Amino acid sequence: MDKSWLRFHPLSAEFKNGLHIFSSHAFQVASYDGGIKCPCTRCYNRLWFSPEVVEDHLTVDGMDKSYMREPWVWHGETIEDWVQAGWGSA
Ligand SMILES: [Zn+2]
Repeated sequence: MDKSWLRFHPLSAEFKNGLHIFSSHAFQVASYDGGIKCPCTRCYNRLWFSPEVVEDHLTVDGMDKSYMREPWVWHGETIEDWVQAGWGSA
């Protein structure tokens, strides 16, 4: 799962594009009743919103820092994907 977009400014095209790919992917593989879990600093995966709202939250509030260090299991990433990407050793 591409997470490089998190390094860019929230108003940059790189961030917007990466965020949209992320929310679209999560919606395809990990949605429930039209929503996905919001990993922003306020919701921290406790609340479900439409991908559009999640994109707004992540743009304004940013992603929870502790979730950035974990496999994104609420958004379709498996532990195996995560280890293969080298995140587990970081
Ligand atoms: Zn949120």
